[in-house]
Amino acid sequence: MNGACAPLGVIVSCQNCSLKGRCHSNVLKFVFVTGGVLSGLGKGVISSSIGLLLKLQGYKVSLQKIDPYVNVDAGTMNPYEHGEVFVTCDGKETDLDIGRYERFLDEELSASNYITTGQVYWNVIRKERSGKYLGQTVQIIPHITDEIKRLIRLPLEEKDAEIGVIEIGGTVGDIESLPFLEALRQMKDELPREDTFFIHVTLVPRLTTSNELKTKPTQHSVKELRAIGIQPNAIVARCDLPLPEPVRHKIALFCDVPLENVIEDPDLPSIYHAPLVMFEHELHHRIAEGLHLEKRAVPLNEWTTLIRRTESPEHRVRVGIVGKYVELRDSYISISEALLHAGACENINADIEWISAEDLISRDVEARLSNLDGIVIPGGFGHRGVEGKLEAVEYARTNGIPYFGLCLGLQCAVIEFARNVLGWSEANTTENDPDTPYPVIALLEEQIQVTQKGGTMRLGVYETTLAPNSISRQCYGQETIVERHRHRYEFNSAFRDQLETAGLRVTGTSADGQLVEIVELEGHPWFVAVQFHPEFTSRFLSPHPLFRGFIQSCLERQSSF
Ligand code: GLN
Repeated sequence: MNGACAPLGVIVSCQNCSLKGRCHSNVLKFVFVTGGVLSGLGKGVISSSIGLLLKLQGYKVSLQKIDPYVNVDAGTMNPYEHGEVFVTCDGKETDLDIGRYERFLDEELSASNYITTGQVYWNVIRKERSGKYLGQTVQIIPHITDEIKRLIRLPLEEKDAEIGVIEIGGTVGDIESLPFLEALRQMKDELPREDTFFIHVTLVPRLTTSNELKTKPTQHSVKELRAIGIQPNAIVARCDLPLPEPVRHKIALFCDVPLENVIEDPDLPSIYHAPLVMFEHELHHRIAEGLHLEKRAVPLNEWTTLIRRTESPEHRVRVGIVGKYVELRDSYISISEALLHAGACENINADIEWISAEDLISRDVEARLSNLDGIVIPGGFGHRGVEGKLEAVEYARTNGIPYFGLCLGLQCAVIEFARNVLGWSEANTTENDPDTPYPVIALLEEQIQVTQKGGTMRLGVYETTLAPNSISRQCYGQETIVERHRHRYEFNSAFRDQLETAGLRVTGTSADGQLVEIVELEGHPWFVAVQFHPEFTSRFLSPHPLFRGFIQSCLERQSSF
């Protein structure tokens, strides 16, 4: 090959390269997704859609999120501000966008798919302390930007991927994102022109009084990007109306991008419609042209079939999610998505009723819960809302309503059972009552000495062995499973015998049999509570078996009336 490189997707034989048939080192390509005008425009959905369209064409893709905040990871962040903390299989506490990437790509991502300013500085400062830069003045350029570039390449190298789709969080113009954008500018100059492609996602607002679409905010944010030295190759414009041709022309002219590279991004019924819309508007062709990729077919049929099912499902069930942050749906995004995935597969739409656990104490539980076909108690921390959650568990347990407990949802199920079936009225988790005489949920041995926050819980994947003749075993269809965890407290095995004898069956344990990972209720149609987070591994194309089982049982309950 003599250094010259074949276009991606063209298999050549390369004498000089250790990777047989593919001159890998020369073909790493990058799609960078930046955002302008304001945050929350759906860069994550666009990045995920691009990842999917590339993957369906047969490319090995790596999606990465750059979050320019100073936190080292999302572990200590408040769900009120940032929504759910998503955990990767290798135990990194990340931004919820990583969850979306996994749900679209149907692939496991890892810690290296998520970068923060804190992580970058942490690495550089550690290197400085260990003498790696001896004699040098350590600076943002080149030391911080070099570290950013290394971290951008890392997941591609780890997974042997060909194309990286890199989303830069925040909005162009933010002080925080400047070093990252500078690193991208350097990459653009260091790499051959056809190895980088910049997509800028902006907003084209409509003035309600005149019904006019305004392009000025887009023009200004592109100007801002150019001042940093980056000229976008394509603009994805969020708008609540189809973009009229003159508006597209204006954006193309003022922002200096080809007309066909101005892609409209209208409001959609669901995020899963976005890849179809980007496909219709040929964003994948524009990327292929920019990156010199061959044009390939994009088999979207399976995706389209599932979308159609979500649009006109055969059945509908009502599922109550009893949580602490219900006014902020992003806090439970993986759960609502997992219900949607299971529903698309089973042809059942789950209408979610968001129930504030705190309000449930004072309100009439019967009035709030009796119309539900199923109840989910999600994960959570602290005492707020726990008593309301216990009311909901009791109602589900005593009325045969399908119950699905996730992490804290298992802990609540155990506490409720101990209090109301065994009569241990003061039973509790030591998280909320350190002096309880019945600590049915208690701190893990390995957690007792931990004082540092962030990355210190029981995190990432662990194996669980499932008991025969259990609902869980039936749903998974196998004896050993692997699921992701994020908790400090655990079922206290000192009480296991008494709880089991009274009818709370342990149906999943850690590989060594010591830790309780799943409980089920004998004689109840569907009561499954798990210490892990199955919602993190549900994907649009491969829904989670427990969510499928739960939603089926909701339908069965509804049909039994
Ligand atoms: N607060 C509980 C614990 O740390 C539950 C955590 C969760 O639901 N993710 O064990």
